[in-house]
Amino acid sequence: MTTIVRYAPSPTGRLHIGNARPMLLNWLFRLRTGGQYILRLDDTDQARSTEAFARGIIDDLTWLGVKPDLTVRQSDRTALYDRARDTLIASGRLYPCFDTEDELEAARMRARRLGLPPIYNRQALTLTDADRARFTAEGRTPHWRFRLEGKPVGFTDLIKGPQTVNTASMSDPVLIRADGTYLYTLPSVVDDIDLRITHVIRGEDHVSNTGTQIEIFEALGGAVPEFAHHNLLTGADGEGLSKRLGSLSLADLRAEGFEPMAVAVAATLNGTSLPLNPYSSLTALADVLPLSAISHGSARFDPDELKSLNARLLHSLDYAEVAPRLKALGLDREPLWLALRSNLTVFADIAALATLITGPVTPVIAEVDKDFIAQARDLLPAEPWDSETWGHWTKAMKDATGRKGKDLFLPLRLALTGRHDGPELKALLPLVGRKASLDRLS
Ligand code: GLU
Repeated sequence: MTTIVRYAPSPTGRLHIGNARPMLLNWLFRLRTGGQYILRLDDTDQARSTEAFARGIIDDLTWLGVKPDLTVRQSDRTALYDRARDTLIASGRLYPCFDTEDELEAARMRARRLGLPPIYNRQALTLTDADRARFTAEGRTPHWRFRLEGKPVGFTDLIKGPQTVNTASMSDPVLIRADGTYLYTLPSVVDDIDLRITHVIRGEDHVSNTGTQIEIFEALGGAVPEFAHHNLLTGADGEGLSKRLGSLSLADLRAEGFEPMAVAVAATLNGTSLPLNPYSSLTALADVLPLSAISHGSARFDPDELKSLNARLLHSLDYAEVAPRLKALGLDREPLWLALRSNLTVFADIAALATLITGPVTPVIAEVDKDFIAQARDLLPAEPWDSETWGHWTKAMKDATGRKGKDLFLPLRLALTGRHDGPELKALLPLVGRKASLDRLS
């Protein structure tokens, strides 16, 4: 069986790292099973969906390395939803309701007073044809509710195990607004049937929807897919990450210079049984992350952890993996990469670090170190230089001056780089070369 999954964001805001979780978990599943991945833009909410947000979502997928096999937009598929609507009306599962917000609120209050759950009382099912004709004549247009069977709906969640949603404790959901537009619930099922989705992998905030939607799948005679509901990424203190907040949007993370693979790891490995280690490709990540590794507990996202992950990823990248990006900066030399990578937090830091090699550098030589540095200049080994040169030179300086540890190394570092810390001098020195070193020591 070919697996077909879908990622179904609504283009009503920029995606944040929490949205990247289902996006990537579906993609990793697709990489493991070799099936298909559909990007479905859930843009039935015309008032809030925009073309710019849709483009933003596609940019975010591209940046993270997700390549959908197919992209569809719900706004292009209304005819399918209309057909499903007619089927459900004909079978009596979709019924028109003329209740106003005030009437609904009054009914909820009444239920609460009687100690009953505040679910919809199905008052619309008692309307006669004459009532409906009267409302219509008054200019009222109905919204439409799906008549739930009101039963325990069971399914085996691929992450959470056996689940039961009792639709008897739920209000019949509104599937169509009074203006005729569809809410998310019905189009999603219609698309899942039409596109032959085999696995629905989405956040656990959808578990109760799944109960409703399984009833809709059955009412439409469609094959019910497998479901996997993952824990949601929360902030460090457990609060949700909101898409519309715009904070921590993927676009922001990209602008701040985070590596897509660091973001991908933070989005997927938090809240799993696996440690947050860097991986350099989504394929490698897919290999270690089956759905079964996702935990039932919470998935906390810590921005500081992302920073450290980003740094660790950069430190582990081979030259070949970054050569094109280094070339764009005119820094495509393997020894340079190997000397500097372990001091990077974001890749862009490389430009400033490279000036330690290429200059200009403003040497710092304290008054008390003047003689010491003059001696260092005299003892600077002859070329050719390699990774041993630093050791030979500092050994000679130690023997000549009796200095050791920080007293020995720091003045040399300050004179050669103008900084208190930075890349290992052992690697840096041969790249700076003898001539530039002599200049800096003068
Ligand atoms: N558009 C829905 C959402 O963003 C999709 C949920 C689903 O995967 O079915 O929550």
